[in-house]
Amino acid sequence: MAHKPGTRMLFCDWHMPNFLPEIRIDYDEYFDEVRRTGAQTLIFMAKTAHGACLFPSEVGVTNRTMAGDLFGEIAGRAKAQGLEFIAYYNVVLSWELGRLHPEWSQLDREGRPLRMFLYPCSCMSNDEFADYVGAHMAEIVRKYPIDGFFLDLQYFAPEGCFCVSCRRMFRERFGYDLAPGAFEAAQWLDLYTYQAEVRERFIAALRERCDAERASGPARPGLSWSWNGSGSPFSISATLHHGADYLSTEAHPPEYLHADHATRYCEGLGKPFTLFMPESQGSWGDWTVTTPETIKGLSAIALAHGGSLNVNHVPYPCGDHGGKVPRVVWDTIAEVFAWVAERERFCTGKRPVPVVAVLHSAHNARMLQALARAGKGGHWAGETYGNEHALAQLLMETHVPWELRQEDVPLEELRGYELVILPYVPYVSGELAGRLRAYVDGGGKLLASYHTSLFGECGERLGNFTLADLFGVDYVEESRYSVSYLDRLDELFRPDVPDMPLLLKDAASVRSSAAPGLNPANHVLYCRPRGGARALAYIADPIIESNFETGYYVYHDHAPPGYGTEYPGIVVNTCGQGRVVYMPVPLFQAYRSKKSPFLKRLFAKLVGDVLGVSERIRLQAPVSVKTSLQQDEEGWLLHLVHLQKETDSMYVDSFQRSDAIAVRVRPGWPVAAVEECVSGRALEFHSRDGWTEVTIPGVRDHLIVRFGRA
Ligand SMILES: [Zn+2]
Repeated sequence: MAHKPGTRMLFCDWHMPNFLPEIRIDYDEYFDEVRRTGAQTLIFMAKTAHGACLFPSEVGVTNRTMAGDLFGEIAGRAKAQGLEFIAYYNVVLSWELGRLHPEWSQLDREGRPLRMFLYPCSCMSNDEFADYVGAHMAEIVRKYPIDGFFLDLQYFAPEGCFCVSCRRMFRERFGYDLAPGAFEAAQWLDLYTYQAEVRERFIAALRERCDAERASGPARPGLSWSWNGSGSPFSISATLHHGADYLSTEAHPPEYLHADHATRYCEGLGKPFTLFMPESQGSWGDWTVTTPETIKGLSAIALAHGGSLNVNHVPYPCGDHGGKVPRVVWDTIAEVFAWVAERERFCTGKRPVPVVAVLHSAHNARMLQALARAGKGGHWAGETYGNEHALAQLLMETHVPWELRQEDVPLEELRGYELVILPYVPYVSGELAGRLRAYVDGGGKLLASYHTSLFGECGERLGNFTLADLFGVDYVEESRYSVSYLDRLDELFRPDVPDMPLLLKDAASVRSSAAPGLNPANHVLYCRPRGGARALAYIADPIIESNFETGYYVYHDHAPPGYGTEYPGIVVNTCGQGRVVYMPVPLFQAYRSKKSPFLKRLFAKLVGDVLGVSERIRLQAPVSVKTSLQQDEEGWLLHLVHLQKETDSMYVDSFQRSDAIAVRVRPGWPVAAVEECVSGRALEFHSRDGWTEVTIPGVRDHLIVRFGRA
C-alpha cells in the first residue's frame, strides 16, 4: 500500500459560500489547537459544495470574501507542523457552475436540471466538465504541498442522468437509446452499469492527471487518494475502491449499527479505511458539539476493525465568534484522540480471525436497484442493505465474529471460514454456485435465506433455486399471504423460543409499498423438501389475507395464525462433508421489523447448535457489548466495545458495565497469557476440555484483550 492514513485524522468540512461579509480563520490559534489534539492528518477544503474554492484560482471560481490565500496558508502551516495534509475536493456540486455552465448539469428524465443535497450538480459524462475538474485539481497539485486528495460527491443523482452526454455515451456503450420510457429491469441495470463505469473512469482520469502533474514538479512523494463511498456497503460496484489508497465512508450517531456494518465492508475489501464522523450532534453543520463519549463510541468501532477516525471541526466564518472553532470542540477532540492514542497500536495492521463470512454481492445490489427503478416495487432497492443490516445485528448481538466478503472470495479463502452466510443474494452465478458446492462438499457450513439463488442475472425469476441441491428443497410457489407464522418448531429450540407460532412480517416492503403499507410485498416461499433434508419448523398461513381498505382484517395489522402447511420454514440438509441451513422465509427482514428476541434466539440456536459455530470462540456478553476478534503474529486480540445509547437518543451513555463477560477460545495453539492491552493487567485463565476460559470483569467503553500464543 502506497499510503496508509494516520489513525487520528481531522476533517474541516468548511463549505463556505460566496455571499458572507467575510470568511476567516485565526490561523495561529487554529494550529495551536490542532497540535494540542495530537492529530496526524488534516483534510481541508480546497473546493466546496457551494462551488467557490478557498485559494485564488486561475481555473475555477475563487471565494470573494476570504482575504489572501486561505487554503495555501492552511497547507503551508500544516506541512510546517508535520501533518499529513489532504485536499478536499467536492466534485459535482456547485452553485457557481450551475450558473456558469448550466449545460453541464445532470438532468432528470424530462430534461430538467437536478439537485443533490440541495445543490446543483454537474455530470461526470460531460467532457468539458471532466476537463475543467482535472485542470482545477492539477492547479492545486502545482501550487500547494498537498499529500493527497479526498474526493467527495463524485455521484450521479438518484433521478439521473439523461443529459446529452449520457444519452450519447450510453448508446455507444450498449447500442440502444437511453429512453427510459420503455425500460425494463435489464435496461435500468445497463444504466447503473454505465454510471458505475463513468464514475470510476472519471476518478481514474483525475488520478492520472494529478499524479502526472505531481511527477513533473519538484521531487515530492506521490499523492494519496481516497473518495467518499469507496468504503460504503450501499455501493452498487465491486470495483469502486480500485486505485484508492484507503477507503472512506461516513458514520453518524445514532447509526452505530450502520457504522459497524460499514467497517466490516471495508475490512472485507482488505484496505485501510477511515470513518468520517461529525463533531456536532448528528450530522454535518449542526454547529453544536456532541459528547466525547459519543465520538469515542464511533471511534471504538473503527479501531476494533483496524480503521482510522476522521473527526470534523468547523470555524465560525464570521460574526462574534468569527475565525474560531469553539474551545469545547478542541477539548472534545483532544480527549478523544488521547484515548485513541492509548489503543491504536493494538488495532492497526491486524486481520480478523475468520469465523463467519457474509457474502456481499454488488451485482445483486445493482440488479435490485434496477428492479425498483423499473417499477417492480420500491422495496427492492433496499433489500441487499436491509438483509445484511439485520444479519449484522443478529451476529453482533449473539457475539459471533463475522466479516463481510465480496462474492468473488476465492475458494481457498472461503475454506478458512467455519460458516458462510448468504443473507439475500437472489442471483447466484453458476461460478459462485460451483464454489459454494465445493466449499460445502469439503466440510463447510452454509446458511442462506429467502430469495437467494431464485433469480437470474437481470432480475428474472427462475423456476427453481440454483442452489436447490444444497438447500435440499425445490421451489413450489410463493404464498399468497403477506404475513406468515413460523410454527411447529423442532424441540431443539425449546425452551429458548416460546411454544407458539412466531410472526414473520417483512420490514423493507412495509415501509415502501404504496397505500396503506400494511401488506408486505415479500411473501414466504412454499418449498418441497428433498429426501435427506429435515424441516426444523413449518410455515403456518394466517386465517385471512387482510384488506385494510374494505375492513376485512382482524385485530389489527396482522391476521392471526390459522392453518399449518406442510411447507418448511427452516430446513437443514447434509451435503458431502458439509451442512446447510436454508430458510424460505424473509427471516432477516422480519427480524429487522420487530427485533424479536425470539427470532434472535432461534438464529443463535441455528448457528450455535445446528451448525456448531463457532468451534474457535464462544462469548457470553450483554447485548450492548459489541465484539471483534483480530489476530497478529503474537496471537488474538478480542475487542469489547460497550455501546449503550441514552434513552432513544443519539448519544452514548458511558458507564462501567460490570456484568462479567465469559470467553472461551480454542485458537489451535496453546494460550500462554491473557492480558488487558491498555492497562497491561494480566487476566486469570483456565483450560477445560480443550478450551481456554477467561472471565472479563466488565467494560466501560473499549477494552482490548490479548490472547498471547506460546
Ligand atoms: Zn449526464
